[in-house]
Amino acid sequence: MSFTLEGRTGPWEIVVGLEVHAQVTSRAKLFSGAATAFGAEPNSQVSFVDAGFPGMLPVINRECVAQAVRTGLGLKAQINLWSRFDRKNYFYADLPQGYQISQYAHPIVGEGAIEIELADGSTKTVGITRLHLEQDAGKSLHDQHPSKSYIDLNRSGVALMEIVSEPDMRSPEEAGAYLTKLRQILRYLGTCDGNMDEGSMRADVNVSVRRAGEGYRTRCEVKNVNSIRFVMQAVEAEARRQIEVWEEGGTVEQETRLFDTARGITRSMRSKEDAHDYRYFPDPDLPPLVIEQGWVEGLKASLPELPDERRARYVAMGLSPYDAHVLTLEKETAAYFETVARGRDAKVAANWVMGDLFAAINRTRTSIAEPPVKAEYLGVLLDLMQDGTLSGKLAKEVFEAMVETGRSPGAIVEERGLRQVTDAGAIERIVAQVLEANLDKVAEYKSGKEKLFGFFVGQTMKAMQGKGNPALVNEAVKKLLG
Ligand code: MN
Repeated sequence: MSFTLEGRTGPWEIVVGLEVHAQVTSRAKLFSGAATAFGAEPNSQVSFVDAGFPGMLPVINRECVAQAVRTGLGLKAQINLWSRFDRKNYFYADLPQGYQISQYAHPIVGEGAIEIELADGSTKTVGITRLHLEQDAGKSLHDQHPSKSYIDLNRSGVALMEIVSEPDMRSPEEAGAYLTKLRQILRYLGTCDGNMDEGSMRADVNVSVRRAGEGYRTRCEVKNVNSIRFVMQAVEAEARRQIEVWEEGGTVEQETRLFDTARGITRSMRSKEDAHDYRYFPDPDLPPLVIEQGWVEGLKASLPELPDERRARYVAMGLSPYDAHVLTLEKETAAYFETVARGRDAKVAANWVMGDLFAAINRTRTSIAEPPVKAEYLGVLLDLMQDGTLSGKLAKEVFEAMVETGRSPGAIVEERGLRQVTDAGAIERIVAQVLEANLDKVAEYKSGKEKLFGFFVGQTMKAMQGKGNPALVNEAVKKLLG
């Protein structure tokens, strides 16, 4: 099933590649010891290196390199033991050095791949071209003063991983699924927090269109899109614009564009610069970056379980592929599920997490990171069902009380006297009372109206305030009617 956009003159295929800038999770910057915490007072996390003072020398942060290698391993990519930093020269007020230290011809990570999951349950592999390390620039603030611009250098020098994909995506949905999966992998690895609203992940979206069977046509790059939804919208808006240009007999020019989120259209920003415009050359202040295979192996051995592996493990535990997918989307959800499922029926645990817990989170506007019911408590609740203390119906009641009070299921069961009655003798006595009170119905039942069986069960449960063990109640009714 392939996705096309219908133009005036027939269907068009969309071609999308993404360049994602992901901020490396690290305490210090790529080439300085300044801190990287989000939301700090402007210009409070700036070293002389970050401010471009003359004579200051960059020194590489080993942890940032390790994070890039971990990410490369998570993307099943080639790790280059020899890579090099280049200067990308351009002038901007928030770039005090007058150049960005980046990796151009020799990135630290080469080709890899990501498997994306689509809504119809199918999967697709998207190629990774490369991942390189580079510095972030500072931030210009134009809206703080009527006639002045301010500059905040806190971001200046922060380590970024630029992750470039192959032009393998063919629809807005695939672009969204790619970004979702990439963010998921980075979060599992702990190499980027993936908070797009804080600018930790930004996507440059390369879009072109073509007729089926054609080679690539000219692409345009939509810069700095900061949410998955906007990426999907930008892909469609830019593709529609290009289709119109081609269909009117025009030519799409290679350029950099911006996505206007309010109007849902892309606008021209500047004609596309070529690499030679940046006058890239090896940074003379930095030797080539050489890492050891043994160090890479050590990082590989300590990688956490990744989303694809975890999903496969959940399926092996008996979950459906869909449940496994949902439970592994966020690693916090997976951790919660595992606590509930440990030593218990995985399917039952999954049903409670995806059903009652998710509903309670929505209702109480909480999150899986700060859940309305502790995972340990939900596990205990399942045990109380398993050992017959609670029926399914009573368990739902206890769960709601847990959401309300935050107390343990044991405390709630005791406090509210919700313990299920499993004493067969006691149940039979109540069934006998029910039959005694409904002699007319007993006679009807005996003359063939077998549907009344459910009535007797219902009356017994009602008399027991829902606390009778359903199997035992059924058994007792059958026995006393027989
Ligand atoms: Mn870049």
